Amino acid sequence: MDTWLLHRMRELRDLQGVIGLATWDQETYLPAKAGPARASQLSTLRGLYHERLVDPRLGDALAQAATQTDLSEDARAMVRVLTRERDRQVRVPGALVKALAEAQGRSLHAWREARTQKRFSLFQPHLACVLELRREQADAYGHDGERYDALLEGYEPGMRVARLTPVLTALREQLIPMVATLASAQRALPALFDGRRYPQDAQWAFTMRLLKDVGFDLEAGRQDLSIHPFTGGTHALDVRLTTHVDESNPLPALFSTIHEAGHGLYEQGFSPEHHATPLAAAPSMGLHESQSRLWENLVGRSRPFWEHYYPHLRAAFPEALADVDVDTFHGVINHVAPSFIRIDADEVTYNLHIALRYELELLLIRDALPLDELPAAWNERMRHYLGITPPDDTRGVLQDIHWAWGEFGYFPTYTLGNLYAASLHRAARRALPDLEGHVSRGELLPLRDWLRTHVHAHGFRTPAEERVRDITGQGLTDADFLAYLRDKYGALSGVAL
Ligand SMILES: [Zn+2]
Repeated sequence: MDTWLLHRMRELRDLQGVIGLATWDQETYLPAKAGPARASQLSTLRGLYHERLVDPRLGDALAQAATQTDLSEDARAMVRVLTRERDRQVRVPGALVKALAEAQGRSLHAWREARTQKRFSLFQPHLACVLELRREQADAYGHDGERYDALLEGYEPGMRVARLTPVLTALREQLIPMVATLASAQRALPALFDGRRYPQDAQWAFTMRLLKDVGFDLEAGRQDLSIHPFTGGTHALDVRLTTHVDESNPLPALFSTIHEAGHGLYEQGFSPEHHATPLAAAPSMGLHESQSRLWENLVGRSRPFWEHYYPHLRAAFPEALADVDVDTFHGVINHVAPSFIRIDADEVTYNLHIALRYELELLLIRDALPLDELPAAWNERMRHYLGITPPDDTRGVLQDIHWAWGEFGYFPTYTLGNLYAASLHRAARRALPDLEGHVSRGELLPLRDWLRTHVHAHGFRTPAEERVRDITGQGLTDADFLAYLRDKYGALSGVAL
């Protein structure tokens, strides 16, 4: 490939890396007074990135490369991925980008105020404005009559409403009765977090041990603390994870670390020859999330995992866990109960929270639901899907930041992550017949290596669903996820699901 084009690809990656560093720092160590300066620095860097990306010379070089017949398969994929990203950016007029950024800022502010006052009506006019601009943006990107597709494409390239809706609807119809059965069948569990103390140092040490065992390379990354855990960084050899420690409850730190490590292993697993190219990225948010959910839920909440780790956890917190055995602990971390807040939901009810959001945001983008009816539509679905009614809008329609930020099309990637995770885990069990034995001995590297070979190393070469199909023999399906839930929660609750 043309050296100018390769050089430009490297420049774009470098800019992304520095933006990643400044963003990570903003969420971890930035002194309080430096906020406005950092916002300005990031805005300048993003402007430079945009300028470099929409540069007509890059458009010409990509168009020229696309006609070359002697390019390797990887080089063709690089050209395809960067062309797609550039085309999307070029199609949106600068005035619309600016209007969206300003509307997002106002909307975020109004959303915070509306949450404090528990009143959706304060947020409603700002949501209307962001929605209208996102519809305009969808039209600018282009679509076949379904605007939501153009937005979904930004998070889950290749996925379409026509493909997604039947899968999510069928999943919803299976989950509603499963949740109702489990809610009445589970045994009562002791409160592990009432007045018990889990010192920060011991939590930190335990999470660092987990990172080492799972094969996260601490010489090519690090872990720090933040309010909301995330994975960021500058490069595949500089991956920054964060976790959150609560001294009254060790679960947020444990499961945040395992979750973010799943994301981090993906980032560290890109092929070295792709590092300075557009291929050092996941092909979709859903596939990225499949890695975090696979480690967090299918491994980290499994019985074999805690057979190995529970004695170590108990040794780390000898007082708090003195009267708690592994069965009880395993029951507590897999307790299923309808709840109002998505981010606190268990893995069975979680996808009903997503179904609700997906259905509503699809109606909103289609302009088929008047905004003043949104809180009631939310509450009605909560009643129907989970059997509970939010006591106020803060625990209902106002709980997530996504819509305030204009992120329509993002929510379904969480469920795609869960479904892909279950299908990939099933394939891993077939390929590694002693996987459960490995996990029960704390040997996590065979699974990491299998994921690295089959998922991580491919980067952005093939679309997410195609990658999954190549591995499992089938594309998007709810069958593996439902089979996993029926097995696990049937055994835990003692009832057939
Ligand atoms: Zn995640």
